[in-house]
Amino acid sequence: MSDPLSKKELQILDGFLKERSITFVKNYDMGEYSSWKVGAITKIIIFPENINEFKETILKLKEIEISFFITGNATNTLFINLLRTIIISTKRLKKIEFISDNEIIADCGCSLSLISNRCLERNLVGFEFSTGIPGTVGGALITNAGANEGTISDCLKSVFFFKDGKEIEVPKNKIEFSYRRSSIEKNDIITRAKFKLNKGNASLVKEKITEYIKHRNNTQPVQYPSAGSVFMNDKQIEAGKLIEELGLKGLTIGGAQVSTLHANYIINTGKANISDIKNLIDKIKNECQRRRGINLETEVRIVDE
Ligand SMILES: Cc1cc2nc3c(=O)[nH]c(=O)nc-3n(C[C@H](O)[C@H](O)[C@H](O)COP(=O)(O)OP(=O)(O)OC[C@H]3O[C@@H](n4cnc5c(N)ncnc54)[C@H](O)[C@@H]3O)c2cc1C
Repeated sequence: MSDPLSKKELQILDGFLKERSITFVKNYDMGEYSSWKVGAITKIIIFPENINEFKETILKLKEIEISFFITGNATNTLFINLLRTIIISTKRLKKIEFISDNEIIADCGCSLSLISNRCLERNLVGFEFSTGIPGTVGGALITNAGANEGTISDCLKSVFFFKDGKEIEVPKNKIEFSYRRSSIEKNDIITRAKFKLNKGNASLVKEKITEYIKHRNNTQPVQYPSAGSVFMNDKQIEAGKLIEELGLKGLTIGGAQVSTLHANYIINTGKANISDIKNLIDKIKNECQRRRGINLETEVRIVDE
């Protein structure tokens, strides 16, 4: 395990952030932030207010060699240990530019629902696939998030990355997207993305959205803290179906439980801690391996640094 951040490193970072008036909070509980409502404490979480502050912060962290983890809404992440890694939150990066009749550029921290709503106001359709996915553009591009028969890559035109001190635009055809995967790498930094929508009838789309929400409420445990589907589907079988077939629905460790409504969800029934969630993930993986020879991979990102 890495050495914790030293006092000196923290002082340098503290000084830089204060000098640039960049918002940050010390000793922040990621359990407050994450959709699972569990998580480690980070020494510092930084909230850049715009893409320039985001870039400046990253350059400084690289210069002083402090490792960082970028998070959007943390709806797909379990923070187990944050000894040396600090957090950059993109929550405040939510500018949407309408650059033509049907194209937008959205900051990486825009929530998918914000984009969908803003587009519908202009009768632009195509983003409604995202109804019910509580993530941001950055997080969604990493896993090619999808629902309601669509994925974020469907309407994508290009992604802007921050690389070697410059923002570069990479067209969609240079990035591979497949089921819950993209070729975007662990250390790539997404600043913004360009999407192309279609002119359409917003009222009809709003009816579809109501149906999507109804379906989700009936099939997923939306009233409990969770991270959505925990495991990726295996080639042979859907993860939820496998977990259900093995009789693991309802399996509980401390405050973490395999949802009885949707077996690929692990819910926090109220008082789960990090170990409860992690141990339940491991138990499910072990059972699937031992009884069916299937190695389930987590869709959820696990941060243990
Ligand atoms: C109730 C619920 C329902 C869900 N339903 C669905 C669903 O139907 N379909 C689906 O696909 N997912 C679903 N999810 C999972 C999750 O919402 C998506 O994966 C979402 O896209 C994650 O976005 P985020 O901003 O929360 O990502 P985070 O959890 O914050 O981050 C996820 C990953 O993206 C990286 N990342 C984030 N921003 C950047 C950036 N700017 N640059 C580089 N890397 C970045 C992080 O470092 C991390 O590795 C659901 C989750 C919940 C809680």
